[in-house]
Amino acid sequence: MDRRGFLRTSAGAAVGMTVLSGLDAGTAFASPTTVADDVLSQKYPFVLPPLGYAENAVEPAVDAQTMSIHHDKHHATYVTNLNKALETQSALQGKTLRELLSGLATLPDGVRNAVRNNGGGHANHALYWGLLAPNGAKAPSGALAAAIMRDFGSVAACTAALKAAGLGQFGSGWSWLVRDGGGKLSVRGSANQDTPLTDGQRPVVGVDVWEHAYYLKYQNRRTDYLDAVLGALNWDAAGAAYA
Ligand code: MN
Repeated sequence: MDRRGFLRTSAGAAVGMTVLSGLDAGTAFASPTTVADDVLSQKYPFVLPPLGYAENAVEPAVDAQTMSIHHDKHHATYVTNLNKALETQSALQGKTLRELLSGLATLPDGVRNAVRNNGGGHANHALYWGLLAPNGAKAPSGALAAAIMRDFGSVAACTAALKAAGLGQFGSGWSWLVRDGGGKLSVRGSANQDTPLTDGQRPVVGVDVWEHAYYLKYQNRRTDYLDAVLGALNWDAAGAAYA
């Protein structure tokens, strides 16, 4: 099977072939410099891009079984439930995912939490898969590297802050490197699938600290998972998110 056929088959198995209509199979998380933005530009009906890299490509940091279940089941379910939430909301179907998440406060009461949780889940994981994509730069460069030096003093200090935010996040959530409107970087956590987009910040790095992201391999050792993932980051993806 050629690569394109593989992508179609693996994505089809994950989300059902009808959901794939309109999805360019070339859009995969293996192309991290564009796909997170592509997902934020999606409108109803939302689609799950394929990983585009092998499920074992990020071992040993992330094991193949976790990668498979996380993308094909957890992320797929966020997409399915986001579509369900909007299927009777014709006024919202023309909004992009970015617009929905940035404008959560303006959404009707009956749909706001479903978009917060499932729309957030779709956007957050879209960034995460690109940050795990293999064969990217192992260190930040250009404008992002300069901003990290300015705001943290070193890359090591930045990743240490990301680790601390991930360890400090009680229960399920995310650790984030975010850029504010003026370009300044900072690190924060968020609960559940809340995205910094809702607070007017742009996510640059997002590390999933839900137990589903690490429990099969690391059990209770979130600290070891954070070390491994922060050491495997694709800084091309982070640079694209910052730009
Ligand atoms: Mn997750």
